[in-house]
Amino acid sequence: MKKISFVIPMYCEEKVADECYKRVKNVLNELSNKYEHEIIIIDDGSKDQTLPILEQLAKQDLSLKIISFSRNFGHQAAVTCGLQYASGDAIVIIDADMQDPPELIKEMLELWEAGNDVIYGKRKNRKGESAFKLFSAKMFYQMLNALSDVEIPKDTGDFRLVDRKVVDAINQLPEHNKFLRGLFSWVGYKQIPFEYERQERFAGKTKYPLNKMLKLASDGIIGFSTKPLKLVGAIGIMSVCISFILLLYAIASYIWNLNNLSSGWTSIMVAITFFAGIQLLSIWIISEYIGRIYDESKRRPQFIINKKINIKE
Ligand code: UDP
Ligand code: MG
Repeated sequence: MKKISFVIPMYCEEKVADECYKRVKNVLNELSNKYEHEIIIIDDGSKDQTLPILEQLAKQDLSLKIISFSRNFGHQAAVTCGLQYASGDAIVIIDADMQDPPELIKEMLELWEAGNDVIYGKRKNRKGESAFKLFSAKMFYQMLNALSDVEIPKDTGDFRLVDRKVVDAINQLPEHNKFLRGLFSWVGYKQIPFEYERQERFAGKTKYPLNKMLKLASDGIIGFSTKPLKLVGAIGIMSVCISFILLLYAIASYIWNLNNLSSGWTSIMVAITFFAGIQLLSIWIISEYIGRIYDESKRRPQFIINKKINIKE
């Protein structure tokens, strides 16, 4: 019998943990004549009652496997860990807040059985998300696709069903600051979108505040493109051209005495601040890449596990 693994990251999800487990388990029970299953929940250093709730559930269900991190390492690290422990032939990545209905995997499984390797959820509309979130997400995907060398599908999160061989390929990638939805695109294989309506969060608040969104965005852009570095070069060439034109103007003014250059305090200040700004901006872009190189070179693990439940080594 083929096996399905669910990988679910949770960070301070005490309000949804129970409901999430029940809904996922229901779907898997309905499929139990065709597929075996396991549910892997990664507790990403929750500070609330998430872990005790999960421990209680895991006592009654050996197919519920829990991995608890020593602190909050972030959503992408939690999913990365889950993928390493998943043993299924098909692996489903899903958020704990039930914004992506687990019932949909029945249709996704049919697409998988038909020979597709990655069935990624594509949001038709997104209920209950702020105008700011929708706008920032749109801008982010536009920028990412303009800059990036791989095609990263719009309106796509991490909700997807993937074949074993794709997960094996992802597990081989050693990089730290992972942007999984980009990597899933990058590895290739046969991929198709699966359109669905994104629901409102079942309970609780988003665990993606602005700083985490910005980190994810920079992982996406820096991890998948060196175009910003080329942009630095382009800006440099542009500013050299501008200063050359200014030089010609200064010489012409001197020869034909067009105006009194010695009173050009404003133009000097504008030029200095403009070029200093461009230089600092360029250094910032380059430092972002250097920071990544530094991060990767430390070779620290992507997460530290504090506790495992129902997992045999
Ligand atoms: N999450 C996590 N670690 C974090 C932040 C989020 O494991 O540091 C989990 C969270 O519990 C949820 C999923 O990642 O299962 C997506 O988070 P959320 O629903 O808050 O993001 P949003 O849907 O608002 O983008
Ligand atoms: Mg959510």
